[in-house]
Amino acid sequence: AQDLARLINKSFREPIQFANRCAAIGASIGIAVLDDPAISAEELVRRADVAMYHAKETGRGRSCLYVADMDAGRADQNQLEQELREALADGKIDLAFQPLVDARTGAIRGMEALARWKSPTRGVVSPETFIATAERSGLIESLGLVVLKGALTASAAWPELNISVNVSPAQLRNPRFVEQVRAALAQTGTKPSRLTLEITEGYLVRQPERAKKVLAALRDVGVSVALDDFGAGYASIGYLRQFHFDRLKIDKSLVCALGRDPVAAGVLQATVALANAFNIPVTGEGVEHEEQAMLLRLAGCDELQGYLFGKPRAASEINRDSIALPLSVQPAFA
Ligand code: C2E
Ligand code: CA
Ligand code: CA
Repeated sequence: AQDLARLINKSFREPIQFANRCAAIGASIGIAVLDDPAISAEELVRRADVAMYHAKETGRGRSCLYVADMDAGRADQNQLEQELREALADGKIDLAFQPLVDARTGAIRGMEALARWKSPTRGVVSPETFIATAERSGLIESLGLVVLKGALTASAAWPELNISVNVSPAQLRNPRFVEQVRAALAQTGTKPSRLTLEITEGYLVRQPERAKKVLAALRDVGVSVALDDFGAGYASIGYLRQFHFDRLKIDKSLVCALGRDPVAAGVLQATVALANAFNIPVTGEGVEHEEQAMLLRLAGCDELQGYLFGKPRAASEINRDSIALPLSVQPAFA
């Protein structure tokens, strides 16, 4: 069975031509072996299905053989999903806001909204974990809306600042997304020009034509679009050209490597120079040390974000006086 699976995957490696089109498709394959005659046909198929999901989750385009541990993993996933569903229904998803500062003056320009979830049974669950669960289960729809509306509502308290909201690729796939953004802006009375949507490259790579249309429609609404986590994946010069981003955010892994990895500074400088050549302003994120801030500034970043300037905080902890001051002189934010 494993040999056959490998053969099937191999046959999908080349794009398939039909009419004048070319389609790149793949298969995730699950295999279950009948090792106990007491197992029913339904159970065997169910196991193959579990193994297939495992193949999807561990990289797609591959095959996996069912082992009993996979069931335990799935049961935990289902449990987490159920808890997240309840948390969303009960309004238990909170938001934290992290300042984005002017690289030259340290003045706060905007806030990025970050989702937070404290589960009664698990404690604080990291966004990486629950966002992935939300994406797998379809809950990202409602989670995304909760974050968007919550961020816009909170941002009414600081009308002079911009507000950035992360958007998952699954949200962009929703044909109603642009309308939802427009409605949320109207409901909260937020000027569209204050909102930046941060997106990662995944969707652009998979559906470039659709992505272009969605981004154009968002721009018609008047919001900005930033490419998040640049330098962490495959986003290339081609993307910068095609998608007309309003801003690029350099991934914190690149920033973190500064000072540790001798080539990091060169890569960073080249990346920022490239974006600037396309007239795209760049934010450096994950800035923890003064030295990193200095290198990012020198490389050409006009905006910085990171623990050095302020950790993500609840909206209620952000007070008016602190917003007006440059962050470098604010012990409260340090
Ligand atoms: P991100 O959009 O790249 O957000 C920045 C992450 O870096 C946040 O992690 C933030 O707390 C962390 N961070 C900020 N400054 C520093 C620093 O100086 N050093 C270090 N080491 N980390 C720093 P967080 O809040 O855990 O979020 C992780 C990721 O989860 C986010 O990465 C984003 O991709 C996703 N996420 C969070 N909230 C949402 C949301 O509402 N919707 C969607 N779709 N994704 C979200
Ligand atoms: Ca972000
Ligand atoms: Ca990021």
